Amino acid sequence: MKKSPIKNLSASEAESLFAELGEKPYRASQLFNWLYEKNVDSFDAMTNFSKNLRSRLEELYLISPIALEERAISSDGTEKYLFRTVDGHFIESVLIKRDGSEEGRLTICISSQVGCPMGCRFCRTAKIGFRRNLSPAEILDQICQVRRLSGLKNDNIVFMGMGEPFMNYENVMKAAEIMNYSFGFHISVRRITISTCGLIKGIERYIDEKRPYNLAISLNDTVPEKRAEVMPVEKANPMTKIAELLERKFPISRNRVTLEYVMRADNISREDAGRLRKIFRRGRIKLNLIRLNRGDHGLTPPSESEVAAFVRELEIMNVPITVRKSFGDDIGAACGQLAGTRYGAANS
Ligand code: SF4
Repeated sequence: MKKSPIKNLSASEAESLFAELGEKPYRASQLFNWLYEKNVDSFDAMTNFSKNLRSRLEELYLISPIALEERAISSDGTEKYLFRTVDGHFIESVLIKRDGSEEGRLTICISSQVGCPMGCRFCRTAKIGFRRNLSPAEILDQICQVRRLSGLKNDNIVFMGMGEPFMNYENVMKAAEIMNYSFGFHISVRRITISTCGLIKGIERYIDEKRPYNLAISLNDTVPEKRAEVMPVEKANPMTKIAELLERKFPISRNRVTLEYVMRADNISREDAGRLRKIFRRGRIKLNLIRLNRGDHGLTPPSESEVAAFVRELEIMNVPITVRKSFGDDIGAACGQLAGTRYGAANS
């Protein structure tokens, strides 16, 4: 009999499972504690479960649906992990040490799909095309494995690895909910960021369902035709409509929406700053700027002085900004570089 991944279970599903096995519902929180807080990799380690219960679980379930294939460590401390799924696909996750040390803020960047159908030009994942969605267990196990293999506990999660999270909406939301359980990882909703390339239906559903996580939207240009050249999603999901939606529906009580902006030589003029302010004039946004990373995308990164001038313009216009440092470029772990190297889109 094929075993199911146990990390696909929500708390209520785990309670039903234990009821079926003739156990009390509190076993569910014990299970989550073993799986996520203690992060064990075998049912045998769950010592407050009877021997009989442990062997029933072992017969029915699998703890890890992904296995480590390769690990690379960058000169800046960033760690990239390549995992193989049970059915032979490859996904990548990245552990980022914000100040380059293990004492600072630790973020795990996780994947939500094998490949991606969205076709962004600056992104190597796009070159793989879309293979399939990841299950909640495959999403959650990336965190378990990175924590176990690095020996470090992250406090931030970003859905910015391979894939478009809103194309795998249910599984991503289920995984995010499990990350937040107090008897599991217990990661605050404010420390979970879901990043979309701008799928309007997904954003609307997310707002309507009052999902509490941080929302980030990749913008990357201010001229629709130019944006469509690097992000085909613009054609059916115009940024002006995204701005209207945020203005109309995004609750005032929520954290600002982050607009991710990959800076190229041709998208950071004074006019770009002005258009940005105009399009999102009433939206509660903050801008996250990051310099274009190297790759075979045929696009030109900006110079330091061009970046400084753009930042100055935005500051004058009172747009809240952060300029993000790129991590892990030397091991192909930086933004836009995750490619599941086994698919032949190797780092250049
Ligand atoms: S940037 Fe994100 S949405 Fe665009 S192709 Fe890459 S993984 Fe997909």
